[in-house]
Amino acid sequence: MDCIFCRIIAGDIPSHKVYEDDATLAFLDINPASQGHAVVIPKEHAADLFSLSPDALAATAKATQTVARLLQRGVHPEGINILQNNGPSAGQSVFHYHVHVIPRWSGDRALGMWKPGATDHAAFATLAAQLRGGEGA
Ligand code: AMP
Ligand code: ZN
Repeated sequence: MDCIFCRIIAGDIPSHKVYEDDATLAFLDINPASQGHAVVIPKEHAADLFSLSPDALAATAKATQTVARLLQRGVHPEGINILQNNGPSAGQSVFHYHVHVIPRWSGDRALGMWKPGATDHAAFATLAAQLRGGEGA
């Protein structure tokens, strides 16, 4: 087994568990962006969003809400970011689907946000139509 998160699920590698149910596990990120930064993972191995089963996706989403509530109660953040990376270009480094739950405080600089681009309704209309045509692909 060469997947580090599968090894955490199996108990071969220690983790600081914050939540577990039949289908999911959540633990503190080893290099946290902020205090309480946790990752929520399905117990089913899937590399990313594209290969994850709908049931595991739903279970992970539900567990993400639970973990967000645990963090709200435990570290009292002013806000929480949910982040999920797919592919190296998007910052994915562990190829077992996971959701980051990142507590935020004003001015903490824990995450960089995108620079808002220009509004181009004509281009958006074309792109949205093209994307709708790809539904179910
Ligand atoms: P990503 O870059 O979205 O793939 O996120 C992977 C995350 O897993 C990173 O934030 C790492 O710090 C975290 N990570 C890697 N190994 C471990 C580990 N053994 N225990 C806890 N978190 C880990
Ligand atoms: Zn895995």
